[in-house]
This record gives sequence, structure tokens and C-alpha cells, in this order.
Amino acid sequence: MARYTGPVCRMCRREGMKLFLKGDRCIGPKCSFDRQGYPPGQHGQSRRGKMSTYGLQLREKQKAKRTYGILERQFRRYFQRATRLRGVTGTLLMTLLERRLDNVVYRLGFAPSRSAARQLVRHGHITVDGRRTDIPSYQVDVGQRVALREPARQIPDVVASLEAQARRQPLSWIEIDIEKFEGRLLALPSREDIPVQINEQMIVELYSK
Ligand code: SF4
Repeated sequence: MARYTGPVCRMCRREGMKLFLKGDRCIGPKCSFDRQGYPPGQHGQSRRGKMSTYGLQLREKQKAKRTYGILERQFRRYFQRATRLRGVTGTLLMTLLERRLDNVVYRLGFAPSRSAARQLVRHGHITVDGRRTDIPSYQVDVGQRVALREPARQIPDVVASLEAQARRQPLSWIEIDIEKFEGRLLALPSREDIPVQINEQMIVELYSK
């Protein structure tokens, strides 16, 4: 599946918030958003009018796509899938995004960002229930064991990320065994358990027009 490969810090500046797309850099003094918090481009610093409802809805969708590193076609498919499930569509959409294998690898702390996690998956460093799985969009089920294969355990970025993970507040719906380089979903997350600042209801409204 295609992915965006252009500059990423401008996405945070466009959305007016930190999307944490670059791992450690996002919490250090080099974060572009902290240094230039205005939108990118020639007119980024000029005064802007009030955004329309459509504009606000569009921004929420872009924020979600950019946070999870997904392009429009695939994102729309997630939405369509969420509409077919029973429950609140917006919450179901967020749950589907969180269950992506690259996101779970990121949540487990094996990688400092979702794009780095995606690379670990693509390069065959991740197993699900003991089987090598290299599809970043793979939907992880509750109880499945996601593990880091032996060779990747020595990668400096992975080691640093796991050290940082040990200092982070654990998520209630994910169990991490750092000693064994593995973890699993204990339950599907509720919306409050997903630490992402997105108004998914606006995305539902946008796609329902
Ligand atoms: Fe966004 Fe991270 Fe770049 Fe800061 S360093 S602008 S949070 S991607």
C-alpha cells in the first residue's frame, strides 16, 4: 500500500498541533512546530479567517490520516468498514486504526514513531503469534502476541525506544513484556483509552455528506 514520503513536520504545522511523527525529535528542542508553530508556505504567517464547518471536518480527517500514516483510499476503506460494524462509527474507526500492526508495534515501544514501526514490520522483524508478519495494516486481535524477532533487538533505535518505553505510562489495554520483547492486546480500546487528539465525529460527518 502506498504511503506518504514527503516532509512530515509541515503536517504538524498545517494541523496546528504536534502529531508526533518523528520520534525523539518531537520531544526535543528541534521540533519544527515548537520553533515555527504557524502553517507552512508563503502565506503561513498571514492572518487567517474563520474556518468553515467543512474546513474543520477536513482538517480532522487529515489529522487522522497523517497521525496513522494512511492515504485517502485506505482511510476511506477503514471508514466504510467502521460503518458496517455495530456501534459508534467514529469510535470503531479509531479502534480499527489502533489495531493496525504498525500502530501496535509503536504502542509496544519497539519503535519511536509509527513510520519507524511500519519499517520494522515491512522488513520482517515482527511476528504475530510466532509467525512473521510484514503487513503494516494487519489487524491485531485481542490476545494475539506481537513480538520483535531476535536480529532487530540490537538495532540502536529499537534499544533506545524500549528504554524510553520503560519510562512511559503504560496503556491499560496493552500488555508489554520488555524482557521477552513482546506484548499483546488485553482488550479493544475504548475511545478514552486512545491518546490521540482527533474529533472523529467530524470525520463521520464529513464522509456522511
Ligand atoms: Fe511534528 Fe515531530 Fe516534526 Fe515536531 S518534530 S513538527 S511533533 S513531526
